[in-house]
Amino acid sequence: MTDTKLIAILPGDGIGPEVTAEARRVLEALALPLAFEEAPVGGAAYRASGHPLPAETLDLARRADAILFGAVGDPAFDGLERALRPEQAILGLRKHLTTSSTLKPEVARAIDLVIVRELNGDVYFGDKGRRTTDAGLREGHDLMRYDEAEVRRIAHIGFQTAAKRRGKLCSVDKANVLETSQLWRDVVIEVAAEYPQVELTHMYVDNAAMQLVRNPGAFDTIVTGNLFGDILSDQASMCVGSIGMLPSASLDADAKGLYEPIHGSAPDIAGQGKANPCAAILSAAMLLRHSLALPEPADRIEAAVAAALATGVRTPDLGGTASTRTMGDAVLAAL
Ligand code: NAD
Repeated sequence: MTDTKLIAILPGDGIGPEVTAEARRVLEALALPLAFEEAPVGGAAYRASGHPLPAETLDLARRADAILFGAVGDPAFDGLERALRPEQAILGLRKHLTTSSTLKPEVARAIDLVIVRELNGDVYFGDKGRRTTDAGLREGHDLMRYDEAEVRRIAHIGFQTAAKRRGKLCSVDKANVLETSQLWRDVVIEVAAEYPQVELTHMYVDNAAMQLVRNPGAFDTIVTGNLFGDILSDQASMCVGSIGMLPSASLDADAKGLYEPIHGSAPDIAGQGKANPCAAILSAAMLLRHSLALPEPADRIEAAVAAALATGVRTPDLGGTASTRTMGDAVLAAL
């Protein structure tokens, strides 16, 4: 890599700035030709400019070669109309930056499982609204919908991911009660014909939630919709000990990526130096690997996190007393 790559850093709210600061320090320590630009997002952006995803932030995200994102969400803004809430920023970024196809692999290392989660459709993006019924009751609705092209796209990514791993794909749906899920299942079965080397199984999401606790090692690759993937990926994080350990990537077809820890802004521990920065640091490693095609420094970061943990240093979520900065220092020392 000769030309300088631009990394957009969007720290966001709560522990977002604390953990992305450590990830940035690790990237800087590698002395690669990287330039960094920061911009506010989420509640921090709303405070500064009245919108959770300001035009300048979106512009930086578009110009950048890859984006390192912290987390968004601030309880102070829970009363705002939905379009202005901090959490809308991540939905907006995913929608703007990953329009052609998306994949969200959350690699739970100890259990060696990848969740491929569709990110641009489902109940989060369908028609939604509130009204008062004729009987005077407040009613809310959110439409769950997928078309077959959306399902086919993510199914291909699921099969391709499984083919590179242990060759087992589990498609998670709720086809026993949801029409959307029945379509999902039909399309996944059609796509399976193109991947004879992959063994396809189907599982209802309630059973998948149970099996993830009971026997997570049985899963290789899971492909699922946006809502089910949101919930199951958080659940999978606890199978490896802490939500503070898991990185994720949202990629488009050209591997332009938005990288973020799977956790949120953790307002309960924000500003106390207690957040585990490993998920953010490992997100930086994924960024190097997937968007900048730099597998060696990515390996170095992942090895440094493992080495730092092996010395016994742990943040409170892992049962230790180390601060966010101390954990970052330990990773830098190992690097
Ligand atoms: P959360 O992930 O922020 O926190 C859940 C629990 O895990 C908390 O007890 C928290 O202290 C702990 N935790 C999270 N990250 C940690 C870390 N790095 N180290 C140690 N402990 C950690 O989820 P939540 O409480 O449901 O949501 C809080 C806010 O974050 C909400 O506003 C929510 O909308 C937002 N959120 C944002 C994203 C995102 O930006 N992609 C994702 C999930 C939630």
